[in-house]
Amino acid sequence: MTFKEKGLLFVLSGPSGVGKGTVCRALRERGTSLQYSISVTTRKPREGERDGVEYFFRTKEKFKEMIAHNELLEWAEYVGNFYGTPLQYVRQTLEDGKDVLLEIEVQGALQVKQNFPEGIFIFLVPPSLGELKKRITGRGTETNDLIENRLSTARTEIDLMKHYDYVIENDQVERACDRIEAVVTAEHCKQSRI
Ligand code: 5GP
Repeated sequence: MTFKEKGLLFVLSGPSGVGKGTVCRALRERGTSLQYSISVTTRKPREGERDGVEYFFRTKEKFKEMIAHNELLEWAEYVGNFYGTPLQYVRQTLEDGKDVLLEIEVQGALQVKQNFPEGIFIFLVPPSLGELKKRITGRGTETNDLIENRLSTARTEIDLMKHYDYVIENDQVERACDRIEAVVTAEHCKQSRI
């Protein structure tokens, strides 16, 4: 029996390079009941990325307009670009009784926590900072300056772990997905209490 009317909002965050995107993709491939919000960004598409699939790619002007019209649940400037979550999609999907997963960086996650404290906050951590550097460098898409910038952001971000409900180590993608699914199940059991 379930007493749930609205869906639950799960926020998956953690330092850049920890593998949030990879874990999200693996979760999608599993075909869980989670719905994935597509973010808006002002950064340029990487090779193979398509508008409306990985992101909605928009100009800074358009992004600022979205902020002014309160169209974003949260937004953040990250390594020189803006990223944000479209509010209407999240609101409607939760109203429809479906769970939503946001994969966002730490500043944005903290904004969601302020505006939507009933959200469930999951922090993905790397096995170590050395491993994180290897992953960021291995991606091969960033310049040295950008790598250093991302690493120093990551160190600051790791300090914010205490604000989260769950900390999950991304030692292996499939294992991290198992743990996220376990969190989703546990949270539903919790919400079912009378
Ligand atoms: P990338 O440029 O590598 O795709 O993403 C950079 C960072 O932006 C990642 O940490 C990613 O999780 C984060 N990000 C993606 N979408 C959003 C969003 O809508 N809001 C916020 N705050 N961060 C986002």
